[in-house]
Amino acid sequence: MNFHVLTLFPDMITGGLNHSITGRALKNEQISLETVDIRDYSCNKSARVDDYPYGGGAGMVMQAEPIYLAYEDMISRIGRKPRLIYVTPQGKVFNQTMAEELARETDLVFLCGHYEGVDERILEEIVTDHVSIGDYVLTGGELPVMVMIDAISRLVPGVLNNQESAEFDSFYDNLLEYPQYTRPVEFHGKTVPEVLLSGHHARIDRWRRDQSLKRTLERRPDLLKDAVLSKEDLAYLAKIGYRPED
Ligand code: SAM
Repeated sequence: MNFHVLTLFPDMITGGLNHSITGRALKNEQISLETVDIRDYSCNKSARVDDYPYGGGAGMVMQAEPIYLAYEDMISRIGRKPRLIYVTPQGKVFNQTMAEELARETDLVFLCGHYEGVDERILEEIVTDHVSIGDYVLTGGELPVMVMIDAISRLVPGVLNNQESAEFDSFYDNLLEYPQYTRPVEFHGKTVPEVLLSGHHARIDRWRRDQSLKRTLERRPDLLKDAVLSKEDLAYLAKIGYRPED
């Protein structure tokens, strides 16, 4: 998977992703990351890339031309036009299903906005997907892009050492993950649930599944309507008070 990012703050992106699992994936060349500084394509001596909004109003707007030039240069290097994601609070809200779908691409281009946003005309010309990371407004698109690249990278085959971790992560099957414990057995008077020490794999699997169901019902009941539930799952959910029509 090759990630390409058009940004005013390339160091933020590389600095943020060069650690932990994404850092290791970059080193192992399981993913690649190209950042392009839009400011390098500024059309004036002072390297400005923003200007006042037509019609007045607060703030500045990123100009179309530098983004267009940076984008043209980028796609001539890539050799084709991959999907271009503009991160914006006005987009479709990012989730695990979207991450899974995007992880199947070979190249993804991201555009980070700043200030009041970007001149609409360049968005109309190059953007294929508008994506938000949630219903709040951030200062710039770099954090949303890092969030998306991190979530997508975990799904690229080979990036996680143990594929099981992605398989049981929250949202994988529309359920939240069960609680996790590690040593010591006792902490502040609380002991690890006995079943996890039993070595009985079938019992552990059932306990974890029940905990996932319970946690999802308590914290995100909205997810349950799209989860694939077995007879045992439904029986357990009924026991703890779930009614499918809720
Ligand atoms: N005036 C814009 C609006 O109301 O839609 C918000 C501009 S915001 C201050 C600057 C940039 O941050 C946006 O262009 C976008 O790239 C990014 N951004 C802010 N919040 C975001 C979010 N929730 N998801 C994705 N990107 C976001």
